[in-house]
Amino acid sequence: MAKVLRWCAAIALVVFGMIGTAPAEEPRAAASTSAEAVETIDESEPVAVPEPSEKAMTYYRTGMGWWAFNRVWGLALPALIVFSGFSSRLRTLAARVGRGWFGTVAVFLPLYLLVTALIELPIDYYQGFVRPHAYGLSNQSHAKWLTDLALGLGVNMAVGVLIAWGLYALLRRSPRRWWLYTALGSIPFLLAGAFVMPIWIDPLFNDFGPMKDKELERSILDLAGRAGIESGRVFEVDKSVDTETVNAYVTGFLGSKRIVLWDTLLKRLGEREVLFVMAHEMGHYALGHVLRSILSSFVLTLAGLYFVHRAAPAVIARFHARLGFDRLSDVASAPLILLLVQVAMLALNPAAMAYSRHQEHEADRFAIELTGMNRSGASAFVKLQTQNLGNPRPGWVYKIFRASHPSIGERIDFCNNYRPRRDSAGRPIAEPPGGPLED
Ligand SMILES: [Zn+2]
Repeated sequence: MAKVLRWCAAIALVVFGMIGTAPAEEPRAAASTSAEAVETIDESEPVAVPEPSEKAMTYYRTGMGWWAFNRVWGLALPALIVFSGFSSRLRTLAARVGRGWFGTVAVFLPLYLLVTALIELPIDYYQGFVRPHAYGLSNQSHAKWLTDLALGLGVNMAVGVLIAWGLYALLRRSPRRWWLYTALGSIPFLLAGAFVMPIWIDPLFNDFGPMKDKELERSILDLAGRAGIESGRVFEVDKSVDTETVNAYVTGFLGSKRIVLWDTLLKRLGEREVLFVMAHEMGHYALGHVLRSILSSFVLTLAGLYFVHRAAPAVIARFHARLGFDRLSDVASAPLILLLVQVAMLALNPAAMAYSRHQEHEADRFAIELTGMNRSGASAFVKLQTQNLGNPRPGWVYKIFRASHPSIGERIDFCNNYRPRRDSAGRPIAEPPGGPLED
């Protein structure tokens, strides 16, 4: 799962608290399957990659259009707000209300987030509500959509103000090294954020509880034991109020580490498919991906902030009259920082995506080695593709800029072809350098 992406987003946009609250995408599928009899499945039988439906291809193509629009819009909106002088007027207002630097930041940032949220409301509504409903992918009511939006905005305001205090304090005190100190200072917050997110933030949006199917829970915990994960916690979340799609993810850090299953996944996948998806999640756990993703976020943050540090003074020197401020340490520069961070992230995103795909592939490999359920894995991916209107073989723009996971086609191919040799006890023998062994 793309924790990388989630944390990238968290960091890239962290400055203004635009933290994504949606869990990263994971094997999602729908379609009811009758409980598969465990004994009757030949796990070595290959599974064909289905052709995407016309509806799926339309969803994919329009999705690419929206993706391109969002990239441009993400630059255009902060540019408009800062270059029109609106940001500086907003800061003057905030200074009058807030008095003193501390209060100014605390008033400016929520105001800025509120204004942008209102401007973006129609776009968010179309992309987050109308479009998924039109394709039969969403169950969300208007009320739930609005509540989630308001909650998200509230969380962003609170987190955004905290981050802005730190960032602007460092900008004022150390104009030459602020980017380094901010990145270093973000590490404890990233760790704390990873710890707190599943306990305090996620439950604001949905109900998390223990698994209802105790037998399946036992199978999952058995699997976790074999994967070397002790006292693993498995939670079930009521995502069926929001979506038709299916997902599972690992989250948390230290004591808050957990595997979360959407109830939609439990309803629509067969038991062996669920176990394969769980084994994939356990792979993220066992291979230390949560911590690695936090580290990669740190590297991205450092690079992004350094870019801001180098580029912003030139922009301010040239346009200060228009901007209405002449120092980066003026909180009115917030949209400019956001704009430059977005530019940096556009350039850095392909590397972040490639790293995420690598982790996802390793988790798939782990799942096959742990369970030997090649066919169940492949059939889970088939459901994911058909029910979520996926394109199993997306084009290169999608692959480079958007794909946090290997394509569904590649994942099914891998399930069909990767046959780790097993010892007499059925445990996989480590693959030699040079590729998987054929049976
Ligand atoms: Zn994953």
